[in-house]
Amino acid sequence: MSRLRSKRFFQGGVQALLLFDLHNIRYLTGFTGSDGVLVVRPQAATLLVDGRYVTQAQEEVQSADIYCYQDKVDGIVAVLDRAVEDPVGFEASAVSYDFYQKLAERLRKENLTPLSEELYSLRAVKEDREISCIRRAAQLSAGVLEAVSRRIRPGMSELDLALEIDFGAKRAGAERMAFETIVASGANAALPHAKPGRKILEYGDLVVVDYGAVVDGYCSDETCTFCLGSADDRKREIYSRVKEAHDRALDEVRSGVTCSRIDHVARACLAQYGLDSYFTHGTGHGVGLEVHEAPRVSRNTDTVLSEGMIITIEPGVYLPGQWGIRIEDTVLVREDGAEVLTKMPKDLLVL
Ligand code: ZN
Ligand code: ZN
Repeated sequence: MSRLRSKRFFQGGVQALLLFDLHNIRYLTGFTGSDGVLVVRPQAATLLVDGRYVTQAQEEVQSADIYCYQDKVDGIVAVLDRAVEDPVGFEASAVSYDFYQKLAERLRKENLTPLSEELYSLRAVKEDREISCIRRAAQLSAGVLEAVSRRIRPGMSELDLALEIDFGAKRAGAERMAFETIVASGANAALPHAKPGRKILEYGDLVVVDYGAVVDGYCSDETCTFCLGSADDRKREIYSRVKEAHDRALDEVRSGVTCSRIDHVARACLAQYGLDSYFTHGTGHGVGLEVHEAPRVSRNTDTVLSEGMIITIEPGVYLPGQWGIRIEDTVLVREDGAEVLTKMPKDLLVL
């Protein structure tokens, strides 16, 4: 029940919380179903599910009562009972406007308070068990990419390569991929979130592979950029700059440092070589039950890193219409540094 007793839940006179985000619900109760609502009050918590999930909820959840609803809003009103007149906090970002209106009709708009930012950072610091899941996910993924990378050849399509990674990960025991595997070659590699397609890998291409597996609900996230056949001087040079930005940012990671500082270090390193304008995204993000979660490691994030947070470091340089390079590791924040959890070597690998 400890996670459900967090003091930060009940601020500003809020007497009950309505949680809709399934990752938060899983984090707080262990429930892994794909629909449900968690009502948390200072002394008790109730997980509301529909008939499909009653048995599963009873098996998975010890820390909350289970309530079966026919209609979600009716269920919430019934569980809140007399607390209806009190201010109720709700996860505003996890419901549709349509659903919010239905809720407001029954619970009164003035009683509904959107939950504070603090709740979104609830999962940022990981416990040992969570760290061990992410460690295993990273290990499993690297084993797969290491094996698949030996078979990467010109003539293969991006899609085939992505499928081999997904197939290998599932066969090795991954629950699923953490996100749709990115394999981007040639000019596609200049798009940070390219979707693998029918494009054939060609001799001389840079190939960006961004992938991650899920183990016991927890994600890993890693990006390797390979070169097929041979790398010209320009590609080697820029690769070494991105690697330097990655290494410098990594060196900066420890508890007490702000996320914006980490981002600044990576960006300033690329700026030294006139490459910062080609680095078009943040330096990283938290990883856990979701592949993108708090904290964001970007220019404007004043979150201070603390021991047990797990974040990515992923600078990249993207030359539109030509090619791109990204190097990404998932790392555990320690008191005095970072432990890299992802396992693939990050020096330029020419296949
Ligand atoms: Zn990634
Ligand atoms: Zn990432």
